[in-house]
Amino acid sequence: MRAADPTTGGAAAGSVARSADADVIVVGAGPAGSTAAAYLARAGLDVLLLDKSTFPRAKVCGDGLTPRAVKQLIDLGIDMSEAAGWRHNKGLRAVAGGVSMDLPWPMLASFPDFGAVRPRQDFDELLVRHAEKQGARLREATTVTAAIEENGVVVGVEGHEGPDRRPFTRRAPLTLSCDGVSARVALSLGMVKDDRRPLGVAVRRYYTSPRTDDDFLETHLEVWDRRDPKAPKLLPGYGWIFGMGDGTSNVGLGILATGRTNGTGDYRGLLTHWLAAQPEEWGFREENAVGTIGGAGLPMGFNRTPHARPGMLLVGDAGGMVNPLNGEGIAYAMESASIAAQCAIQGLARSGASREAALAAYPRRMSEALGHYYRLGNAAARLIGNPAVMRVATRHGLPRPTVMRFLLKLLANLYDPKEGELSDRVLTALTRLTPAV
Ligand SMILES: Cc1cc2nc3c(=O)[nH]c(=O)nc-3n(C[C@H](O)[C@H](O)[C@H](O)COP(=O)(O)OP(=O)(O)OC[C@H]3O[C@@H](n4cnc5c(N)ncnc54)[C@H](O)[C@@H]3O)c2cc1C
Repeated sequence: MRAADPTTGGAAAGSVARSADADVIVVGAGPAGSTAAAYLARAGLDVLLLDKSTFPRAKVCGDGLTPRAVKQLIDLGIDMSEAAGWRHNKGLRAVAGGVSMDLPWPMLASFPDFGAVRPRQDFDELLVRHAEKQGARLREATTVTAAIEENGVVVGVEGHEGPDRRPFTRRAPLTLSCDGVSARVALSLGMVKDDRRPLGVAVRRYYTSPRTDDDFLETHLEVWDRRDPKAPKLLPGYGWIFGMGDGTSNVGLGILATGRTNGTGDYRGLLTHWLAAQPEEWGFREENAVGTIGGAGLPMGFNRTPHARPGMLLVGDAGGMVNPLNGEGIAYAMESASIAAQCAIQGLARSGASREAALAAYPRRMSEALGHYYRLGNAAARLIGNPAVMRVATRHGLPRPTVMRFLLKLLANLYDPKEGELSDRVLTALTRLTPAV
């Protein structure tokens, strides 16, 4: 708790432990870190939120939010109206094999019926300021290089801060690793990613485009690499065109780094080549480009576990939370942050074995929430990695609206587990029958 009596040590409910700098250290102020920090600070805990950047800062992303992400933002108390700067969208447009189909977001009890876009530069700043308003103490230009571990328990972090890279250490009874795909904190503890789980690579660029006001998120499910005209390859992934409403479109490719592409390909070259094949009038040409091509990995399907160890929880990309079926990461970063915060609030109000039990519930709750679906997604990702399967799926699935509406619910993880229609009940049964990751 803020203003706690420092002499009470870690034993009293919610107090800052003796010699601790905060109740919780949150490393990384992306969607995962800012969401967790906001919930924790709102509950009265003293939260130190550390980020290597200074805000506002750019982040390479597609900037697309499905209703799943919008739900998280509403839960957090963010005003999601268009008047507040959000550009709403109505659904997903699936394009493949010469067919294009507009699929409105499903009408569900569990999720809103609209998605949104917002540049990450703006989005991440909005979330970090929200966390500050709830009471989190943000420290920018603060790079964490490692966790500090004593007797098998994480008791804080170390790194360097400011332009002169002054070394620092900070201690707290709990650290949340929300440091994204680089997962520096987890790596310092030897927690490497599981290479059997799928990993994606995504690249994107902004272009001034007449498609800027499109109110559907457009995904191209058939991406061919035709750089060698004699040997065109159907790639395991998709392209996107998201209208930003500010005169630009965010366009990019997300590719599964399978054995064939294994994450080492020339993805920037691939994007340029793919865009050159798009209609001239859309404007995706060098003279209309805004900024450079940026890219990063998409850590999917719980590719770094366990999600908890004594004194530390892994949240968002650091825990490989990206959906293996569609490459979406913001909703899941926020969802895992919300669950981590609930466990932390309970844990830090208790002591001893009771505290440990509350914190240890986090990986179990993540597994219950997403483990079954991600196991299904990891298996599907292996199938999608097979070009023959991809070809059959796009040729035969796409022209059928019922199949596509079902696929949208499956790929975007948007269905009502309890009160839904038949397709929701089929999806619920399918995920429940799949053992959790
Ligand atoms: C090209 C591309 C397109 C994408 N498109 C979409 C999309 O349209 N929709 C979607 O939902 N998802 C998309 N994603 C995925 C999404 O960007 C991530 O899943 C999401 O940002 C994860 O949030 P996070 O908070 O876990 O990590 P991040 O957003 O990566 O935040 C991590 C934070 O930690 C800080 N940090 C890192 N290391 C340290 C350190 N050592 N010390 C201190 N601070 C540190 C960083 O500065 C950063 O602020 C895309 C990803 C890529 C690469």
